[in-house]
Amino acid sequence: MKLDVSTYPIIDHHCHPWAEDTREISKELYVSLMNMGGLSPEEAMDPENVIHSEFTPMGRQILHLMADFLGCKPRLSEVIEVRNKRAKKDYWEYCGELFDDAGIEGLFIDDGYSEVSVGAGLAKNDIHEFELKAPVPIRRVARIEPRFQTAVDESSSYEDFVTRFDRAIEDAVKKENVIAFKSVIAYRSGLHIDPATEEQVRKDYERSKATRARDVKHIRDWYVRRVIRKSRDLGTTFHIHAGMGDIDVVFDRSNPMQLYGLLKDPETWKTKIFLIHGGYPFSQEAAFYANALKNVYIDMSEMIPFASIPGATEKTMQILDMAPPARVVFGSDGVVIPEIHWAGAKIGRQVLEEVLGGFVKAKVYDEDEAYEAAKMILAGNAKRVYNPW
Ligand SMILES: [Zn+2]
Repeated sequence: MKLDVSTYPIIDHHCHPWAEDTREISKELYVSLMNMGGLSPEEAMDPENVIHSEFTPMGRQILHLMADFLGCKPRLSEVIEVRNKRAKKDYWEYCGELFDDAGIEGLFIDDGYSEVSVGAGLAKNDIHEFELKAPVPIRRVARIEPRFQTAVDESSSYEDFVTRFDRAIEDAVKKENVIAFKSVIAYRSGLHIDPATEEQVRKDYERSKATRARDVKHIRDWYVRRVIRKSRDLGTTFHIHAGMGDIDVVFDRSNPMQLYGLLKDPETWKTKIFLIHGGYPFSQEAAFYANALKNVYIDMSEMIPFASIPGATEKTMQILDMAPPARVVFGSDGVVIPEIHWAGAKIGRQVLEEVLGGFVKAKVYDEDEAYEAAKMILAGNAKRVYNPW
C-alpha cells in the first residue's frame, strides 16, 4: 500500500531564517551544514574532516534531491554550480520555486541566536527583512535565553531584572508577531527542571550578572516555569529543545525523560508544550508524554532531514506508535540555506507515506484515516493550534 501525500500543504513548525549572503554558496559551506558539528575553514583544510562531512546521510540525501530538482548529476561541485547559477538570477524567486516544489505554505521561525556561545551561535539575522522577502508567510518564535540575558545585563537589582524580563516576554507577543516562546535550556543547564526557591534564584541572578554563566540552573529552571505559566495567559505555546543538537548541547541532560518533574506538574498543564526535535534520538520517551498528557506535542524537526531517510522512518514509527497524530507536527530545523527547509518537506512527506502506509497494512488505520493523520501532521495541527494567518 503506497500512500501519496504529495499534494498536502506543509507548515514548517520549527526552522530558522536565511539571508541574502547565501545567494551564492561554496562547497565548503554546504558540507559544513551537513553535520552537527559544522566545519570551520581551518577544519576544512584537513581532507579527513571533509570526507567525514561530505558523506553524512544528510549531505548525500539532500544532494540527490537537489540534483533531481536542478536536473544535473549528484556530484557536489556540479550541484553547487547549477544551484548558484539559478539563485544568482533572482535569489528570492529561486526560493519561491523551491517552496512551490515542496508545497510549503508557511514557516514558524525561531529567530534566536546564542547569547553566550562564542562563534558557534547563529547569526543575528534581520528578521524583519526576512519577513518581507520570505516566499511564504511567517510567524515568529521568540527565544527566551537572549531575553533573559539582556534583562540580567541591563538590570540594576534582582527586582529590576524580574520587571525587565516580564516586560520582554509580554512585548514579544504584543509587538513582535510572536506565537510561541522557545527555551534552549538543554544547551545551558539541562532538562531536569526543578522548582526553585527565591533565595536560590536571587543567588543565581548575582552569579549570572557577574559571570554570564551557562549553568545557573536555579534561575533557568525559574524562567522556564515562569514563561510556561505566562504563555497560558498570553495565548502562546511553549517550545523546548529536547534531544540532540550541536555539540554544545548538554547531551547527558537532554533526554526528554528528564522533563518528567516539569511535565507532571499540573501547573504546566494549561500550556501547550512542544518537544522540539521530538527528543531525537530519544523519540519514544517523547512520544510517551504526547500520549499520556493532553498538553504535550512533538515536533519532528532536525530528525527530518538531518537523520537518514530510513532512520527517520524508524524514529517516526516510534513516535506515532504512541503519540496520537493530532499531537505531532512537521518541522525541518532548516537553517542558513533554504534547501534544508525544502529537502525537509520532501523527506517529511516520504517518511510519513512510508510509516502510515505501514499502519494501513497492519490495519491500525484504514486508508482514509492514514491520509487524515498525514494531513494533520504536515499542516493541520499547526493551523488548528495556532490559527496563524
Ligand atoms: Zn532550530
